[in-house]
Amino acid sequence: MMDLHTNTIVDIQLVQSNEVGGSTHMEKEGLKRSLALLESRGVHLDCIVTDRHPQVQKFLRERNITHYYDVWHFAKGISNKLLAISMQKDGEKLKKWMKSINNHIYWTAAGSTSGPERIAKWTSILNHVRDVNVHEDPLYPKCEHAIRQTSDRSKWLQAGYVDDIMDVIFEEVFPNPTPYREALLEIPVPEPLTAQYEKPDKVVVISSLVSRFKRGDV
Ligand SMILES: [Zn+2]
Repeated sequence: MMDLHTNTIVDIQLVQSNEVGGSTHMEKEGLKRSLALLESRGVHLDCIVTDRHPQVQKFLRERNITHYYDVWHFAKGISNKLLAISMQKDGEKLKKWMKSINNHIYWTAAGSTSGPERIAKWTSILNHVRDVNVHEDPLYPKCEHAIRQTSDRSKWLQAGYVDDIMDVIFEEVFPNPTPYREALLEIPVPEPLTAQYEKPDKVVVISSLVSRFKRGDV
């Protein structure tokens, strides 16, 4: 537990997974213990910054403690997703944008004074990467950087995704589905997970259940 005003570590808790019934419960338990200690010493919290661990979110919400997420975790989550996409075919262009997008996350977090402003600034990146520097949201109507002509036009990304897919479906797949059906059938589908088990005899399974009920085990 660190006090962000003074950059001082004020408490450390060691939690072992088998104390709390599994590793996913450790974060919340450590936090609980630290908060109890601080409370017992009369420390009043303005807010708390953590990662986005779901149990911690729920715990702090229930205790009515103002909760912020550590921007590092958010940036890391987005970067991992972008990296996965950039590894796919035609992902090279996105790779070149990753550092800027990461910087934009930190800039948004540090330079916004409200939630809605943060959303306006963060989502403006979807325009910026397409060379569009004016935005619909009045809380962030245009980029703050100097607008200049780029020599490399190929660096800009293009919007599409969903619209392009809908066009393909309605204009190409519906009028002539045969080639698409054939391509679908060529996709190798592995056998179901249950296929590796031997199918038991239905009568035997039912009789074992019935006899368990008779024994009063359930
Ligand atoms: Zn811009």
